[in-house]
Amino acid sequence: MTKIITDPDVFVAESLDGLVLAHSDILRRVDGGVARAQALPAGQVAVVVGGGSGHYPGFAGAVGEGFAAAAVCGNIFSSPSTAQAIRVADEVEAGGGILFSYGNYAGDVIHFGETERRLRTRGVDVRTVLVTDDIASAPAEHVDQRRGIAGDLCVFRIAGASASRGDAIDEVERLALAANARTRTLGVAFSGCTLPGATEPLFRVPEGMMSIGLGIHGEPGIRDVPLETADRLALTLLHPLLEERPHGASDRVALLVNGLGAVTQEELFVLFRHVYEELVRHGLTVVAPLCGDLVTSLDMGGVSVTLMWLNDELEELWCSPARTTALVRGNPVRQASALPAPGESGREAPTGSRAPTESPALAGRDAEPSAPRRSASAESVHAATVARDLLGAARDAIAVEADALGALDAIAGDGDHGVGMLRGLEATCTAAERVVPEVGIGELLEAAGDAWADRAGGTSGALWGAALAEFGAVLERSPTIDGAAVAEAVMRARERLVQLGGAEPGDKTMLDALLPFEQALKSAIESGADLIDALAAGAFEAERAADATAALSPKRGRARPLAERSIGHPDPGAVSFAVIVRTTHSVMVERNRT
Ligand code: ADP
Ligand code: MG
Repeated sequence: MTKIITDPDVFVAESLDGLVLAHSDILRRVDGGVARAQALPAGQVAVVVGGGSGHYPGFAGAVGEGFAAAAVCGNIFSSPSTAQAIRVADEVEAGGGILFSYGNYAGDVIHFGETERRLRTRGVDVRTVLVTDDIASAPAEHVDQRRGIAGDLCVFRIAGASASRGDAIDEVERLALAANARTRTLGVAFSGCTLPGATEPLFRVPEGMMSIGLGIHGEPGIRDVPLETADRLALTLLHPLLEERPHGASDRVALLVNGLGAVTQEELFVLFRHVYEELVRHGLTVVAPLCGDLVTSLDMGGVSVTLMWLNDELEELWCSPARTTALVRGNPVRQASALPAPGESGREAPTGSRAPTESPALAGRDAEPSAPRRSASAESVHAATVARDLLGAARDAIAVEADALGALDAIAGDGDHGVGMLRGLEATCTAAERVVPEVGIGELLEAAGDAWADRAGGTSGALWGAALAEFGAVLERSPTIDGAAVAEAVMRARERLVQLGGAEPGDKTMLDALLPFEQALKSAIESGADLIDALAAGAFEAERAADATAALSPKRGRARPLAERSIGHPDPGAVSFAVIVRTTHSVMVERNRT
């Protein structure tokens, strides 16, 4: 449980501020994350890493010379938004292109994928290398479905070292892909982790047991087995990794023994000793190993072991100089002007009356977005007024359900669906308040959708945000805003959601509630029902379909690796969708009455 906290909403921002103040010679704060204190040399490839927070030193600790140029830092366990990733990338782009690297999670893929698309339209050369090192998350035949855990650090390091020595983007990408193809991790959890502000852990491991195949977002392991002594545990974690030795691998390996947050360093050394011994017994040579908290999961009790099978070019990069808050290796050549001026060091900054906000290292902290403005028809402005009401009511309804949605998401996912939805909807309401009253439906829902995606993080936030913006855009273009226009806008919003998230019916996602809603709404409108009755029919079908997702096995998102646990429980995203459309119907009934 988090003891040092001001307010869960600002936990990540305050933590990043503190990190930068403590290391202002290495890092500076940018809007959406952290970047190297010194600008990249012109023409250098910018390696931008990222993901949710809660994993320190993943991922801000991977920023510095010989490593990444910047890290985009989302909320706890939630993907950063597209807007955030663009802001961070813009801070470090130096003319050599951008290589994004991050763990393979649906939310991150959606947000970074959209970032890549937008930067490309501006002419920036953007590449992406997903990390897929977790062997417990999918079988070897489906490496592309595996998630990224502690092996993130190996891939980021190779990409960053390659970029830092001046390699062109094709080469940086090739080496990062090679590193990922040769990196494998397996972990084990002894106890769950607790989100800042929450009182209950996301999962519990039964007394005397350990949970093999942990995720780093509080996803529980794949199977529980009795606790083992350190020598046995070393074999349990190592042997599956050795079985997946890549074809043609040499006998030299980089080794990471990683703590997940609540295991003491001395225990890690005990495990390290046995892992090392076993590797030597297998005729392997351990090169420049790391042992400590490298990619954590808040206060989770757990460890993971990572092997990166080296070849000459990977070994050279793995051992090259680096200087980040997580790793110092060799002696990177530094520009003399890059040294901080006396008194600029963050270690001295936040004392006495001097507020940390005045430190130059924090100059780029998260900014408030400003309100846009476009002209709109009277009907569109009226629709925007209704939409404001609906967003407020949806927020209130989700607030009531947030704990239950979180619990549902914790069964096989990461437990953040309730807080994520609530944060997203609160952001839509703030955005709606900030735009001028005479704004049209298109502009309102664009601002609200962007705010939702930006603040919620996570897969559902990205999808809801994009779908909401699309819904508003279709209504704005419609000559009149009636039931048929709403049905058309729902269909187009669903198409956008599918385009972004790639889900198919039956994958156990919110789509499985959205599609029946859409069909019921459409057929009611077509048979002459008014919008309120059509919404009633749609909400009824959405609730029924959300319940029915209990029987499905998840094929998308964070719940997929633990599909079996999910059976018998409805999909959290489908349930929250049903709550929102039910609320929409109630609000429309109420408005009609008054
Ligand atoms: P995250 O999975 O990133 O933690 P949330 O917990 O907020 O995000 O949302 C989880 C929900 O998102 C799932 O229950 C599911 O309904 C929905 N979801 C996940 N992936 C997809 C996808 N690819 N397409 C549609 N919906 C998805
Ligand atoms: Mg979740």
